[in-house]
Amino acid sequence: MIPVIALVGRPNVGKSTLFNRLTKSRDALVADYPGLTRDRKYGDGKLGEHDFIVIDTGGITGDEQGIDEKMASQSLQAIEEADAVLFLVDGRHGLNPADEMIANHLRRSSKPTYLVVNKTDGINEDIALADFYSVGLGSLYPIAAAHGKGVRSLIDTALAPFAEQVAEARDQIQLESKGIRIGVVGRPNVGKSTLVNRMLGEDRVVVYDMPGTTRDSVYIPYQRHDKEYTLIDTAGVRRRKHVKEAVEKFSIVKTLQAIQDANVVICVIDAHEDLVEQDLHMIGYVLDAGRGLVIAINKWDGMQKDEREHIKKEVERRLGFVPYAKVHYISALHGTAVGDLYDTIEETYDSCYSKWSTNRLTKILEDAVSEHQPPMVKGRRIKLRYAHQGGSNPPRIVVHGNQTDALPGSYKRYLENKFRTVLNITGTPISFEFRSSE
Ligand code: GDP
Ligand code: GDP
Repeated sequence: MIPVIALVGRPNVGKSTLFNRLTKSRDALVADYPGLTRDRKYGDGKLGEHDFIVIDTGGITGDEQGIDEKMASQSLQAIEEADAVLFLVDGRHGLNPADEMIANHLRRSSKPTYLVVNKTDGINEDIALADFYSVGLGSLYPIAAAHGKGVRSLIDTALAPFAEQVAEARDQIQLESKGIRIGVVGRPNVGKSTLVNRMLGEDRVVVYDMPGTTRDSVYIPYQRHDKEYTLIDTAGVRRRKHVKEAVEKFSIVKTLQAIQDANVVICVIDAHEDLVEQDLHMIGYVLDAGRGLVIAINKWDGMQKDEREHIKKEVERRLGFVPYAKVHYISALHGTAVGDLYDTIEETYDSCYSKWSTNRLTKILEDAVSEHQPPMVKGRRIKLRYAHQGGSNPPRIVVHGNQTDALPGSYKRYLENKFRTVLNITGTPISFEFRSSE
């Protein structure tokens, strides 16, 4: 599984700054604690060839009362969830009693911990570090989060012990899964477990009992109408027999890991609740990770007509930013419309991974251009000559021509629509690149 890094330290040492540098994701997921001004944030980390999850915490002040106590407890929770802990201190302010207190917490946990001295830009590094050797957490890692200095080598060091584990996990996924890997994610109680059970319990679904895999596996390979799939079981359906697992049913880390491991992700939303930021961030996260997106509005049974209209409007208003994702109104409990999800899952998978020939793409481009010419610029018409595929998942289409820099946004949208319609691309954005030969 993808490794998890937690950032802890007093407020103002630069945790958010480092978080933003490491994640670059539009959408951090938050574990919200009522009454806290700052929540635990989860982001998708990427640096060089490393993929990881980063957790940012509110901070520990050392004055653990009231709100600070809650902050401290969520830092401790982040440490629990992490594979490695980056303990940040402020190189400009020297050692602080709160730092020592946090160090005590960390010494008691068994997690590999790195003492990171931040804000060492423009100051004498040796002097800045001198204060912190006494903390006794091993080597010091000077960085300047705001400028990226030292960050790469810090992450290389912190993740080195997991390289093998990550590679093994990848092999394991390949080994244990078959067909399209489907992730089912959503907030607690939206009906994920019910949906997973329904999908596996359908007529003509054969769940493999694969030899050589543990019963605890989160990958559930199965066959439906002669096609193979693998459900990634974040909801813990399989494990619910284990008392310990049942306690923490919902975990953001597990959700993010499932998204990473999946090809296509079903985001489940409860029709009885309005869409909240968390839903939108989860969707954004799926897209950032380059996974195919399917939206399921669940608990559609027993709803009044006006309630249904309300949620449909809400979906239109708030999901306008993903017009290409198909929305299914389902009842996991009764099984209504659950089978329809498969057509969309297949289409979405094909959209993400298909390969199209240059001939085919060029033909679509030519048809689009002859139907509707690009505009003139400085007395000359913009020419679009041919198109080829630059990549997949998400699909990337490279269009070659002249003066493409001057192509208006409206024309680019027109082209995207054309390609999307003709190639039947759903559940994924298409990225376009325009190249000019003059
Ligand atoms: P957090 O409360 O620990 O999340 O700290 P923030 O990331 O919000 O940073 C607190 C302050 O320190 C902000 O004003 C940042 O701009 C500043 N800061 C963060 N990293 C650096 C750095 O590398 N160098 C300098 N000079 N300032 C930094
Ligand atoms: P999870 O936390 O997302 O795994 O949610 P569960 O599958 O445990 O479902 C939470 C609650 O919602 C349970 O009481 C389910 O019976 C109920 N539920 C799930 N799907 C549906 C549905 O389609 N319709 C209705 N009415 N209730 C549902």
